[in-house]
Amino acid sequence: MLISKNRNILISKCILGVNCRYNCGNKENSSLINFLLEDGFNLVPVCPEELGGLETPRLPSFFLSEGFTLKSEDGKDVTEYFLRGAKLTLMIANEIKPDLIIFVDKSPSCGVNRIYRNGNLIEGKGITTHLLIRNGYRVISLEDFLQIM
Ligand code: SF4
Repeated sequence: MLISKNRNILISKCILGVNCRYNCGNKENSSLINFLLEDGFNLVPVCPEELGGLETPRLPSFFLSEGFTLKSEDGKDVTEYFLRGAKLTLMIANEIKPDLIIFVDKSPSCGVNRIYRNGNLIEGKGITTHLLIRNGYRVISLEDFLQIM
C-alpha cells in the first residue's frame, strides 16, 4: 500500500481549489480530495510560491538553461522567493511528517516529473520538490496519483 490511513498528506494548495496559481487559477480535483478525505487522511495545503513571498497573480517563471536560477517572464531574478518558499515548505513537512506529498507537475516549485527550462518542457523537478526529496520525503505528482488511486 502506498500510504497508511489517518496520516498527513502535504498537498499543493491549488489542488484543493485555492486560486494560488500564477494566473489566479487552480488545479482543483474534487475526486482526489473526496478519495483522500473519505479515507481519513489529513490534508495539509501548501503553496511554496506564496509562502516565499510571491504575489498572486504573478508572472510565470522558468529555470534558466542550467542550475536553479529562476527568472520571471519580465527577466527579473526570482530565485530567492522560490528558495524561501522551498525552505518554509520543508519546515512544514518536518513539523507534520507527511506520509506522502502530492504536488502539481510542471511548476517551478512543485513540479515532480517535468519543469520548464528556457521555455521548454523537460524532465526535472521543481525547487521545493527537489529539497523535499533530498530530505527523504516521498513526492508524487497529481497525475501519477490519479493513475493509482
Ligand atoms: S506553487 Fe505549487 S501550490 Fe502554488 S500554485 Fe504553483 S503548483 Fe500550486
